[in-house]
Amino acid sequence: MTRRRLPILQPRAEGGDEDPLALLRGGRFARWFASSLAVVGLFWIVSDRVEARDTAHAVVLVHTALQAPPQPPIEDITPAPPKPPIEDITAPKPPVEDIKPGRAPPPPPIEDITPPRKPGESTDEFGRKRTGTGALVLEEGEPDESVGLPTQQRQEIASGGFFDPTAFDDVKTVKKKAYVHLMPGIPNEAFFAGVVLILLLSFSLFERHGSRDKRARNYWHLELTRFAWLKRAIKSRWFQPAVQIPVVIAFLGVIVIGLIGSQEPGRNLAPVLTWNIWWIGLIFMVLLFGNLWCFMCPWTAIPDWIMRRSFTKVRPIASLAKKYPRFKLWMWPAIVLFAFITWLEIVFDAANRPWLTSVLGIFMILLSWVLLVVYERKAMCRYVCYVGRVSGQYAMMGMVELRRRDNDVCRHCATKDCYRGSPRGYPCPTHEFMGAMNENQYCTLCTECVKSCPHDNIALNLRPSGEDVLHAHRSRSDEAYMALLIFIVSAFHGAAMIPLWMEWENALRTAIIDGQTALFGADLLGFGGSHGGTMTFTVMMLACILGPAVIYAALCWLMRLASGRRDITTRKLFIKFSYTLLPIALFYHLAHNAVHVFWEWSKVRRLISDPLGWGHDFFGTARAPLTALWSPETIWYVQVALIVIGHIYGIYVAQRESNRLYADDRKAALRVHLVMMVGMILMSLLSLWLLAQPMFMRTADL
Ligand code: SF4
Ligand code: SF4
Ligand code: SF4
Repeated sequence: MTRRRLPILQPRAEGGDEDPLALLRGGRFARWFASSLAVVGLFWIVSDRVEARDTAHAVVLVHTALQAPPQPPIEDITPAPPKPPIEDITAPKPPVEDIKPGRAPPPPPIEDITPPRKPGESTDEFGRKRTGTGALVLEEGEPDESVGLPTQQRQEIASGGFFDPTAFDDVKTVKKKAYVHLMPGIPNEAFFAGVVLILLLSFSLFERHGSRDKRARNYWHLELTRFAWLKRAIKSRWFQPAVQIPVVIAFLGVIVIGLIGSQEPGRNLAPVLTWNIWWIGLIFMVLLFGNLWCFMCPWTAIPDWIMRRSFTKVRPIASLAKKYPRFKLWMWPAIVLFAFITWLEIVFDAANRPWLTSVLGIFMILLSWVLLVVYERKAMCRYVCYVGRVSGQYAMMGMVELRRRDNDVCRHCATKDCYRGSPRGYPCPTHEFMGAMNENQYCTLCTECVKSCPHDNIALNLRPSGEDVLHAHRSRSDEAYMALLIFIVSAFHGAAMIPLWMEWENALRTAIIDGQTALFGADLLGFGGSHGGTMTFTVMMLACILGPAVIYAALCWLMRLASGRRDITTRKLFIKFSYTLLPIALFYHLAHNAVHVFWEWSKVRRLISDPLGWGHDFFGTARAPLTALWSPETIWYVQVALIVIGHIYGIYVAQRESNRLYADDRKAALRVHLVMMVGMILMSLLSLWLLAQPMFMRTADL
């Protein structure tokens, strides 16, 4: 075999750079550290766009409920020369109106002349209209240069559509309520602290790259089913429906509220509960409890109960029971659906359209129903449901698992009831065989296998996070593409909300129109028309999905080159290392969403009293102030901490993966890990940069 040796690292001298004190003595680590600081310095110089709090826009437009009111401009603070007031100059004469008795009373002060504002609105020191919470109110036709956007996009915002001026045409009430919050990004000191930590910890971890993948699969865990009451509860057929029934009732309630309630997004509980609480809470929940959402999911529960005509009885379903074309499709339907729903959510602003939120909920039930009728078991859960697949991949880092207790018992088990089902429980809906299941990815925690197993060989365990990705696990190309898409979409969501994105979008739209005009003499594709914004956004989204995928493929090619080995192909590296991106994606997701959770939770407090936006006040909280749970400073540092944790987590997982892949070749493992680590550093720095940008939030404001 031909070995291509790249001069990346020299073999370690015994006791040399392994020594952590090498930093003080000027070893290899010190050189890396010095290089890191040089990179930081470079960043400092070129990162004027990073300064978020200093931009006049951010200070002016920041959510004032969360930050001290903006200071008056400097010229207001400067003590003016003591000019006597105008009325003092004319003091000797009585005021004109006093000379003519019976005249109309003096005109009200200027601020009183302003047309009556909507309740809760006020005017700030700069003469701008704001909502009760401090959000800037952009109304149709109102010029506002300070937003920092091109005229066309200002007009789009003013007319209610971020990307498509016609986006809100069918919901006229929304058009009058287009609020834009520009949230400040993390400050420079937090950004650079994050950069230094990422670089320093990356190289520290790399320095410790001596450990082999020695850990066997018998990691620490606490068996929760040791508690007899919990075991009894899980074995009961009421265990899952007891949780699902209230969730189904709440879900149906949200659908009805979305359809019949006020279509002003800030006055309807459905979008706030769906997009601000459920979708974000799901990501937090999955880290702690794995696929807990699937356990309570209403989408499959509703058709399942109806077709079985029972909540608890084990009855067959009148289904065509066709085999899902797994060898052709795998989970590609879920991947396509995930990309499509992301596009729909942003382009059609689903988070601010109550009726669309409800329609998406109904769509998930119908899709699940159709698949239940056509295919055997639950093809929806294994192959089609993008929520289940996203949470499934994140659940590999979850801290709860269902696993066999004893391998030997499964090996000698004749019935395999956990897979095939029994009178006590259904066959596994996602085709998992507990005797060989080593990951949470496809386990929906339905507990049917626990009920079926005749040997009581399945346990519910608490465990450290990430055991599925730290140990040898199944790896397939569709899972790899899904992991990559999750990583890309989580970053893309953040990127699509920063002002720079709009500048790029505008520039691309102009370039496309100009290019067509130059080539064909006209804008043939209609990018200049009313749907031009949507089309440009779609092009950019496709580029954002394909671009990073190509870059990741190039990174894998470099890894293969660095390894000097031909037996492990670029494709294999592409698949294997895609799982190592999951920690970075998950923690960026958490960091990005921390703002929503800790700043927007109080909207729920209001809406719970007036869920339909019809003016009720059931619990006396309909007019409660919008308050943040944490201060912006706390949230900023929590965000940076999450990014750093995700980064180190990712590097550690990548280190374990490279050690597993090149178990017989330590130097190849080191080189491959180094290349992947450089890639991960760039990804994490990009995450930090995104968090440092001011962020537009199309908000369901109140
Ligand atoms: S995979 Fe999807 S449909 Fe199935 S239980 Fe989970 S969330 Fe529900
Ligand atoms: S989990 Fe239970 S039913 Fe399944 S193979 Fe093991 S012993 Fe058999
Ligand atoms: S039957 Fe068992 S392995 Fe299959 S999804 Fe349900 S809990 Fe998971």
